[in-house]
Amino acid sequence: MATTTKRELDLSGFPSGTVTEYTTLVCLACIFDIFTKQLGLAPRTAFTEIKRHTPTLEELTSRSAMRPYFDSEEKHPHCPYCGAAKRWHARFNTYVIEGGKTTDASRRAFLKKLPTASDQFLIVEKKSDSRTVLFEWLDTLGLNLDFADEQWLLEATRKYLERREPKTNWEEVFADVRAVRRSNRLTEGWELDGGRLFLAPNVYGEAILIQYLVSRAQAHGGLTLEGRLTLMELIRRLRYIGYLDQIGISEREPGEVFEKLIDHLAATHDWSSVRTSTSRSSDQLSKVRTGSSNKQANKVSTGSGSDRVTGSKKSAKKASKKSSISKTSQPEPDKAITEPVKLHYLIDRRDFLEKVKSVYASYAG
Ligand SMILES: [Zn+2]
Repeated sequence: MATTTKRELDLSGFPSGTVTEYTTLVCLACIFDIFTKQLGLAPRTAFTEIKRHTPTLEELTSRSAMRPYFDSEEKHPHCPYCGAAKRWHARFNTYVIEGGKTTDASRRAFLKKLPTASDQFLIVEKKSDSRTVLFEWLDTLGLNLDFADEQWLLEATRKYLERREPKTNWEEVFADVRAVRRSNRLTEGWELDGGRLFLAPNVYGEAILIQYLVSRAQAHGGLTLEGRLTLMELIRRLRYIGYLDQIGISEREPGEVFEKLIDHLAATHDWSSVRTSTSRSSDQLSKVRTGSSNKQANKVSTGSGSDRVTGSKKSAKKASKKSSISKTSQPEPDKAITEPVKLHYLIDRRDFLEKVKSVYASYAG
């Protein structure tokens, strides 16, 4: 909440703990490269497209950034993908304001004061009931699984992967899968090796979390690929494989960790039952995104294989220190409480717009 320069937004009007701030750097050299070389756009067209570009909420707030996004706490960082120096970097600041009685009035007043010209700021509201939607999905999944047959673990994993990566034909992938394993080598995605499906640790972590959630009503604790786990054991396992670190959960208290896990899971994939009905937030997002070429850009940027350096793990994100969206911990963490919360994402694009312009000037000239 520093107000050292005029650029900084004054958030002091909000009750403490209701605003979380995220910062993501984007490499404009990489972005121009993607749009001109990989997508084959002329520089001028690329420039126009890039100006309209806004990362997804996931890209803005996740710490496992992918090209062209990255994280750095350094004073003079270099792009981890292409090595470009600081003048090629732009910064997206994202402020997540928790909706509710205590913030509604100040939020409206605050947003009204922001300049509206050329999309310097974007506001995206996130579907209020993502947790509810997740739990409904889990309920439906549970009804369709036969817990007496160990195959359900594969089935649950497949159902989860279908949500995580809807474009992949998972039925085909799973046709010969007899076992799912955590990969020691992959840092992202998955790999099929004979009858074994290897998942990157973060994907594997989510898979066992789903298994835990869907089966915990069946038995004491939950059943997972790692065997029967209590909540404590599950959390220990997720910490060990690096999943908690990766999604920025630094809390130690199991109830708090559990709440954050659910929030994260609910927010990062689309769990709505009807696949065609996209949530309001994604509708709004698709409007602000640059359409097809942007999707292509994402595809290109994420397809570079498993040996890519993932987001700098060393640089602790601001958000991990400040994240304050979680409720106070509940005494019975196993009963997740689906309290609807509306989150208002305010995306500050000013630095990005300015840098794109100056970089383009030197790029075209
Ligand atoms: Zn770069």
